Amino acid sequence: MQIHLGSLINELQLRLRHVHTMLAGSLVGPSEPPMDSFSKPIVERRERLHDHGATWINCGRDVTTKVYMGLVSCDSVGRPLLQNMKQFNGEYGCGFCRHSGCIVAKGQGYSRSYAQSVAGLPEERNHAQMLQHAETALHSGSVEFGIRVLASYHLCLNFSDGHL
Ligand SMILES: [Zn+2]
Repeated sequence: MQIHLGSLINELQLRLRHVHTMLAGSLVGPSEPPMDSFSKPIVERRERLHDHGATWINCGRDVTTKVYMGLVSCDSVGRPLLQNMKQFNGEYGCGFCRHSGCIVAKGQGYSRSYAQSVAGLPEERNHAQMLQHAETALHSGSVEFGIRVLASYHLCLNFSDGHL
C-alpha cells in the first residue's frame, strides 16, 4: 500500500499550483498503516502554522504567513483511512450521509448500494456528528455509523466547510 500526501498553495495562480505541488508525506508498506502515526504529525504541524504561522524574510522585511487547510482530496480507498471510517463498500461507508446502504447482487458478486429509498434522502453527516460518533466508537470499542475512532483530520477539518 502506498499513501502520498501533497499540498498546493492556493494563493498561486491556477497554472502554477500544480507545477509547485509539495510532498507533505509519503508512506509505503505491505499493509494498511496506522493512519494516526502518519497524519498526527502533519495535523500538529498544520495547527502550529495555522495558529502562529511561519516567519520568513521578503526584501529585508519579516513576513509571517499562516497556513489554512482548505480541502483534502484523496481517492476512495485513502479517504476512509484518513477519516478512520469504513470504506465505501462497508455499512455506513458513505462519507457524506448516514445511509447504511444495502447489499445487492451485481454481476457474479455483491456490491453495496446507497440507492435513495422511498422515505427520501438520508441524513447528511456534519462535523459535530462525526466527532460525536468517534467519541461513542472510542468508548464502546465498536464502529458508530461507520466511524471507527477519532481521526487526526477530524480535529482540523470542519465537515460543513469541506469534506475529505
Ligand atoms: Zn451518502
